[in-house]
Amino acid sequence: MRHISHFIGGQAVAGVSGRMGEVFDPNTGRVQAQVDLGTPDELAQAVAVAKAAQPGWAALNPQRRARVMFEFKRLLERDMDALAHLLASEHGKVISDAKGDIQRGLEVVEFVCGIPHLLKGEYTEGAGPGIDVFSLRQPLGVVAGITPFNFPAMIPMWMFAPALATGNAFILKPSERDPSVPVRLAALLLEAGLPEGVLNVVHGDKVVVDAILDHPDIRAVSFVGSSDIAQYVYGRGSQNGKRMQCMGGAKNHGIVLPDADLDQAVADIMGAAYGSAGERCMALPVVVPVGEETAERLRPKLLAAAEGLRVGVSTDAEAHYGPVVSAAHKARIEHYIQMGVDEGAELVLDGRGFKLQGHEDGFFLAPSLFDHVTPAMQTYQDEIFGPVLQIVRAGTLEEAIRLPSQHPYGNGVAIFTRNGDAAREFASQVEVGMVGINVPIPVPVAYHSFGGWKRSGFGDLNQYGMDGVRFYTRTKTVTQRWPQGGVVRDQSFVIPTMG
Ligand code: NAD
Repeated sequence: MRHISHFIGGQAVAGVSGRMGEVFDPNTGRVQAQVDLGTPDELAQAVAVAKAAQPGWAALNPQRRARVMFEFKRLLERDMDALAHLLASEHGKVISDAKGDIQRGLEVVEFVCGIPHLLKGEYTEGAGPGIDVFSLRQPLGVVAGITPFNFPAMIPMWMFAPALATGNAFILKPSERDPSVPVRLAALLLEAGLPEGVLNVVHGDKVVVDAILDHPDIRAVSFVGSSDIAQYVYGRGSQNGKRMQCMGGAKNHGIVLPDADLDQAVADIMGAAYGSAGERCMALPVVVPVGEETAERLRPKLLAAAEGLRVGVSTDAEAHYGPVVSAAHKARIEHYIQMGVDEGAELVLDGRGFKLQGHEDGFFLAPSLFDHVTPAMQTYQDEIFGPVLQIVRAGTLEEAIRLPSQHPYGNGVAIFTRNGDAAREFASQVEVGMVGINVPIPVPVAYHSFGGWKRSGFGDLNQYGMDGVRFYTRTKTVTQRWPQGGVVRDQSFVIPTMG
């Protein structure tokens, strides 16, 4: 049985707790590895190592730190195939999608290769007589990231790339369900020239998360996961005086206006709703046709397209999506499908009971499609996080804007239309953090930033982009005066002004 250890001080460190988590291959349903579940002591050991390594790393000039990132990017490209296979074998997503997971993280690495430019401060000459003012961005010290199972490469890189490039040391607590790729990334960074101890991986569950939130030497924590846990992590970390950034769950809507190119919209919605078995925080599990006629035209097209999807193992190059992550998660999705039926929604396509020949124990679900879902239903309010698409019919554009705006989650939303006025109004009014106009999965590029509203995000700053640089640095502002002759003669008991 493969054993996945912590990675501390540049090497594998076996856990001492005796507690282990099982890592499944969702394609077969079998346990393929065991991962150490850490203790507060092991976390403290990693923090001590990080704290010792951080000043030296921060003292390197930003160009040299950028060079490590350039080399890391090259190594990611070199190992893309192997990383994607490893990732898919623990997560279940298909190989092409696993490569996308790595690529979207790589793009953040690419962004922080420009860190010398991104870290430049501000300067005002002559803010008062003989007075200049300048602002610097300095690293926080030791920071930490806690990541979900669904993007085991991209989300760790969202966090540690800007954190490291700005001169911090980092503790990563990856999902215990697919922990191998994060360790591989840490080893690649070492190969790229990152000094030992600057990036450490400590595996675990709530025990390690709580230890991170309570450790006095960890200055900031970035979290991505489900909303209740995001809110808990945000509260506990903030109370301990840490800078916090906690992204939560989602329920993203795709609004289809009567003038949309329906065939294109259906193709887009298929990928966004069922891709990665619906296990994406930017998935599109709710489609909102505007007007009865649009709904009647859209429904048979969605049904035919969903029936045509191929579910297969991760390594099947023809498969549209693979298994879900665990047996427990599969059972939860099936529970929600039954709840939808019981609540009175119409189950147009039932994905339960699907068996893939030769992989009968894998965690597979065929596509499900519901129509006549209403906002009052629990299955509409909750994030299902599986290959289940719900049609919610709206009478007008105003109603269609209200639906995602009033939903407790506010991560992403998309509108399909040829009408620029309507799209512009929609983008301006909708209370959601990331908007796609004829773009089904509007994950912003690496030089913008990622963040949802309402229960999809707790904290002020988004992931990556300039917000990432801001999150992992603190501003110091220096006001300086060089009086002539070096002697300050004036004395004042009044608050200084530049007037
Ligand atoms: P999760 O909340 O179960 O786990 C996330 C992390 O929290 C993991 O590292 C886990 O070990 C830890 N954790 C789990 N239970 C905990 C507890 N009780 N106390 C403290 N820590 C705990 O999430 P998941 O199932 O791994 O990921 C899926 C969720 O993540 C979905 O809700 C999805 O929408 C969300 N997500 C959000 C974004 C975003 O950017 N908004 C991106 C990806 C995923």
